[in-house]
Formats: sequence, C-alpha cells, structure tokens
Amino acid sequence: MKRDELFVGVDVGGTTVRAAIVDVDGHVLGQEKHRLQSREPPQVAEAVVRAAKTACGAAGLPFTELRAMGLGVSGMIQKSTGVVLSAPALGWRDVPFIKLLQARAPKLPMWMASDLQVSAWGERAAGAGRGVNDLIVVLVGSGVGLGIILGGKLLEGASGVSGELGHTVVHPGGRLCSCGKRGCLEAYAAGHSLASWARDDIRIATAAGRVSGKPSLLGKRLIEQSAGDLEKITAAAMERAAHEGCELSRRLLDEAGRMLGASLANLITVLNPARMLLGGAVLAGSPRMMRATIESIDMNTGKAARLALHVSTPELGEQSCVVGAALLACESLARAA
Ligand SMILES: [Zn+2]
Repeated sequence: MKRDELFVGVDVGGTTVRAAIVDVDGHVLGQEKHRLQSREPPQVAEAVVRAAKTACGAAGLPFTELRAMGLGVSGMIQKSTGVVLSAPALGWRDVPFIKLLQARAPKLPMWMASDLQVSAWGERAAGAGRGVNDLIVVLVGSGVGLGIILGGKLLEGASGVSGELGHTVVHPGGRLCSCGKRGCLEAYAAGHSLASWARDDIRIATAAGRVSGKPSLLGKRLIEQSAGDLEKITAAAMERAAHEGCELSRRLLDEAGRMLGASLANLITVLNPARMLLGGAVLAGSPRMMRATIESIDMNTGKAARLALHVSTPELGEQSCVVGAALLACESLARAA
C-alpha cells in the first residue's frame, strides 16, 4: 500500500451518515456528515455516496482516485454477501446494501462490517489500542457491544456477527430485551433499558404506596432531574440524580455496572486480552456505572488474566467508526492483492 493512497470510511447510523477521507496512518483529511432524510435502503445508499463525494471535495481529492470504501453499519452484517441482516436503528432486515452501493459507485472496492467491529479496528490502528494485538473495545450506549481483536486480527465470526455481548443472558427469565429474549445484558445496561428499569421500579413503588396509604418517595430526585416526567428519564439524568443522593439511581447504575463487569470478567478470563477499552455514551456519561463495572471486572476476573490486562477508555470518540472502516478497507485491499 502506497503512503499517499486514500480511503473513505463511512459510519451508517440510524439518523446520520458520516464519511471521512483517511490515509493509511489513520489521519482524517476531510469529512462530511449528512442527516438521513429517509431510511429506505436506496436513499441511504444514495446518501452514503453523496457524503463520500462531499468528503472527497473537502480533502481536495477526486472521487475516482479513492482506493476503497469501508463501511461500519450499526447492526448485524453478513460479510460474505454484503447483506445487512438486521439493523434495528434503520428498521432494516436482509438488505443487500453493498449491491445498492455498487450500483452507484461500480468501480470502488467496498467492505462492510458492524460499527462495533470497525470502531475497535479504528482504536487499534489510531487510538487507545494502538499496536495492541489482543484488544477488546466495549461500547455501551443504545446497545451493548464489543469489537474483539485477537492476535492482531479482527474477530468477525463465522457469519460476521461476533461481539453481540448485549444479547448474552445474565438473568435467565429476567427483563424483556428488544431482541425478544429475556434477561439479556442489554435489557439492563443499555441507556434506554436503564431508564425503563427505573420507570418500572417507580411505578411499582407508587402503586404500592397508594395501596398502603403511604406515598412513595422512590426516585423523587430522579423525577425532578427529568422535568417531572417519567418518560423523560435518561441514563444521564440517573447519573445526576445519583450524585444528589437518589437511592434508586444509585442502585440501578451499580447493578447494571455489576452485571456488565461480570460479563466482561468472563470474557477476559476466556480470551486473556492485553487491553480493554470501556466506552460509549452511557459509560462515558456515568462515572458511577464505570466504577461499578471496573470493580466487578476486578472481583470476577481470573487472576492470571487480570494481571495481563490494562483497562482504559477509547480515544477516537465518534471518529473511531469512520477511521476504522477506512483502515479495514485498506487492510482488506492489501490482503486481496
Ligand atoms: Zn437481547
């Protein structure tokens, strides 16, 4: 791969498409963010190519000189066929996305993986996991997922859907998850799950208070932090309320951190990574949950594996997906040559 060759990395989320022109060292030379007007697959494909062209313009590069495109899509991807098996944020099922893109940019080689996998690759290439061969990147936000790099290679899995930690069961028969199963980690630790968990506990306590004639004060500070509206509860409001002494918010953030940490401890004990990066909007926004997660990792990980592990946070933030997608395309092109 020549040093002056350039790649485009694209992050396809539920509301926006972001494209960046990236060199082989992971430097971003120009970028563009488009709000999606429609989630229909042909319109999203159109938006991806348009964002890539605009980003090329910002970098002063003709679109035809791009070497390849890498895509990170928030969902489950079947790499061999270029099909998005499911992307809840886009409302997609079995979308032949690479085919739609190739119809619009026929000469450009393309690779696609989940946003979690490409983000991990970005951190490994140009972020807090630089040069680390055994790395796990954990992202907790609207979902709970992982990107795993072992022996310097991205672990994609037989059908490309590795890293779905959020849908491992931590509480058999427990809270209902968006995937249809019960007791998944994501049903407790994802941002919207924490909020609905708090709402449920407040409603149960309010109903019990009505029966006993003693009005419930459970979650009073959290409700205040949410403008008096249960529907406005967020993980960030729970962190603020916990800081002000709200017992409910403290208990749920601690419990979610404990469950997440125990799941990660099992993974560390099995895979023996050198580094783990803990990130995503929920963990980054809740020092309390972060602390509970790390305590739980320390308590539950096998001793030898814990000694080898360094825990820190991602460095690239929102850029990890576009940088990782571009560099993954670069790597795949070199391998295919
Ligand atoms: Zn699930």
